[in-house]
Amino acid sequence: MNALLNADLHCHSVVSDGTLTPEALAERARANGVELWALTDHDEVGGQHRARAAAHAQGMKYLTGTEISVTFAGQTVHIVGLGFDPDNTALVEGLRRTRGGRGERAQEMSEGLAKVGIRGAYEGALKYVGNPELISRTHFARFLVETGVCKDTPEVFRKYLTEGKPGFVPHRWARLQDAVQWITGAGGMAVIAHPARYGFTPNEEYALITEFMAHGGRGIEVVTGSHSAQEAQRYAQTALEFGLAASRGSDFHSPDESHTDLGTLPWLPGQLTPVWELLADRIQ
Ligand code: AMP
Ligand code: MN
Ligand code: MN
Ligand code: MN
Repeated sequence: MNALLNADLHCHSVVSDGTLTPEALAERARANGVELWALTDHDEVGGQHRARAAAHAQGMKYLTGTEISVTFAGQTVHIVGLGFDPDNTALVEGLRRTRGGRGERAQEMSEGLAKVGIRGAYEGALKYVGNPELISRTHFARFLVETGVCKDTPEVFRKYLTEGKPGFVPHRWARLQDAVQWITGAGGMAVIAHPARYGFTPNEEYALITEFMAHGGRGIEVVTGSHSAQEAQRYAQTALEFGLAASRGSDFHSPDESHTDLGTLPWLPGQLTPVWELLADRIQ
């Protein structure tokens, strides 16, 4: 399997902050030509058995997946895990702890929004939540769009849900070393998600990558729905420099919100080592 494989190894279902079921995602992925798929719900592996069955029903190959929220250098960084045993106790337990605290955070977010005149945001966001342990900013964003406070979710994030804005509540997620350890300990590969999104300085980014690799991390997303063509080129270079395997995934959340649909990404640049080459024996 080479770089010219329609692999989509990053997306979200109702088990986290997506709007489609794992079955509907699998169907959509297949319709868009995906050959190898992974569902990567935030801090959750609860959809993995369903997703694998749905992938097989559609005639796709499957890699197990998740996207772990990590706090690194005071910022939130996402680490994708691929090809692990979804029933591994340390992983399941670590993810459960990482999810803990989302409920309280959401209450505080709602209080912050109430102070600027937006009432009932917690209850409003809850209507969109598919997994009670996984209330996220995305669900608040959907409520604020529904009620006409903003025209779309990027506007909600800009005005209300990012650092310094009324609905933003800083949160302590997992440690980088723990996230990487949970994934690799369960037989999988850890991958830095959408590296261009963090706004790190070159020094901070170097620290992230070297610490990540020191803990056993081996991959980085190069082609993703949240990278421009230039950013993809830049991180292709980064992958080569550090000897990291490269991943490809849309980060699809919803037909109404996501600008990159499942399986509709550019190919991985040919000189890179695709993550699926190193994970060949994990593909199901
Ligand atoms: P949380 O884990 O609750 O902090 O929510 C993070 C999620 O919010 C991400 O996984 C994205 O789905 C979404 N998100 C973050 N930033 C933005 C943005 N600028 N525009 C739209 N969605 C965003
Ligand atoms: Mn998300
Ligand atoms: Mn992410
Ligand atoms: Mn994601």
